[in-house]
Amino acid sequence: MGNTAQKCRQCGREIYFDGICVSCQTENERNRILAFSQEEIDAAVREICEEIEENGKLDEQEQMFINLVNYRDINTAEIARTAFEQKLFRPYEIYKNAPDNIVREMLNLLMQDELETIFVSNLMMCLAVHGSEEVFQAFLELEKHPRKWRENLYVGPSVYATGGGWTFDSNGMFTKTVFDKCYPMVKGTPEKKQHSPVKIGVKADGNCPHCGCRLVNLMEIDGNDSRLDFLEIDGVIKAKCCPNCFPFSGGDFCRYSENGESEIIWGERMFSMDDHLKEDGIEELTSNSYVLGDAPVPPRYAADWEGGSSVGGFGFWIQDCDIKLCPDCGKPMKYLAQIQWDTIMDYMEGNAYIEICRDCKILALLHQQT
Ligand SMILES: [Zn+2]
Ligand SMILES: [Zn+2]
Ligand SMILES: [Zn+2]
Repeated sequence: MGNTAQKCRQCGREIYFDGICVSCQTENERNRILAFSQEEIDAAVREICEEIEENGKLDEQEQMFINLVNYRDINTAEIARTAFEQKLFRPYEIYKNAPDNIVREMLNLLMQDELETIFVSNLMMCLAVHGSEEVFQAFLELEKHPRKWRENLYVGPSVYATGGGWTFDSNGMFTKTVFDKCYPMVKGTPEKKQHSPVKIGVKADGNCPHCGCRLVNLMEIDGNDSRLDFLEIDGVIKAKCCPNCFPFSGGDFCRYSENGESEIIWGERMFSMDDHLKEDGIEELTSNSYVLGDAPVPPRYAADWEGGSSVGGFGFWIQDCDIKLCPDCGKPMKYLAQIQWDTIMDYMEGNAYIEICRDCKILALLHQQT
């Protein structure tokens, strides 16, 4: 195959084929779609509907659909109408703006007892993305009075709802599990990073008691910056972790104070025995120059492969959406930020996610990869 290293023709990073790297390809396509006129968007939507009508599935136009939702937050009503006729339920975001009559039909289906597990699962994900009051009430009813199909599912409607950025408790208390606004992290310079209200990778004091690795604030967020008013955080919060151990845990927690340091809550879990990162790895992790973008972007802007790092909005869950329960109050936490590992560390894969409980001042740090 002759897989020798060469340089991406656009950014110069090392790749093993001739041309431009996946990250540059994504960036180019994103810029193209961000420049679409309304007519171009309408034409693309028509093509998406045509493919669904003709083939009963979304294949060739699937990436275009995801990009239009993520980068332009298009209204999906027409696509939902077409897809429902063909009984197509993926990608779930098709039903983001599904018309009321279709949502009602979907809810009626869900109220039945005998349904195939995959069908129920798809239906609930689509409805979760829609997330209207009517969907919430139906999910609440189904949580309280489960239908027969519930026996075959690992989790109930309140967990499915988190896929759409919301959930509820047994008393019917509704909570959003995402922030409405989203800001991307963009390439800056080391000087600009000094002044950015959000920083990825900052060395912290101390070492991991388990593996000896230097501790790092995976992200620092200064809520005093007016762009971040939507987070309602009064000071600087630091998501501290052992960057060597935390990818192996199912989720780490740390306690923060808005004007001071954070304290890692070392739970009962697996730790790494060796420090794989060492000083070189820590240096790489903390020497990136990403800064907070100037303007907000649509909520799902970073919700795909190569979505990059972002604050607020929806993350890209490589496995299932994983909203942790706060170890102090037991309530669902709120998704806060995502870091795409390979944008800051060459050999790392997957994403890191940060969640927050502002009531208890606790952060959760999670890692997922394929
Ligand atoms: Zn490149
Ligand atoms: Zn460690
Ligand atoms: Zn809490």
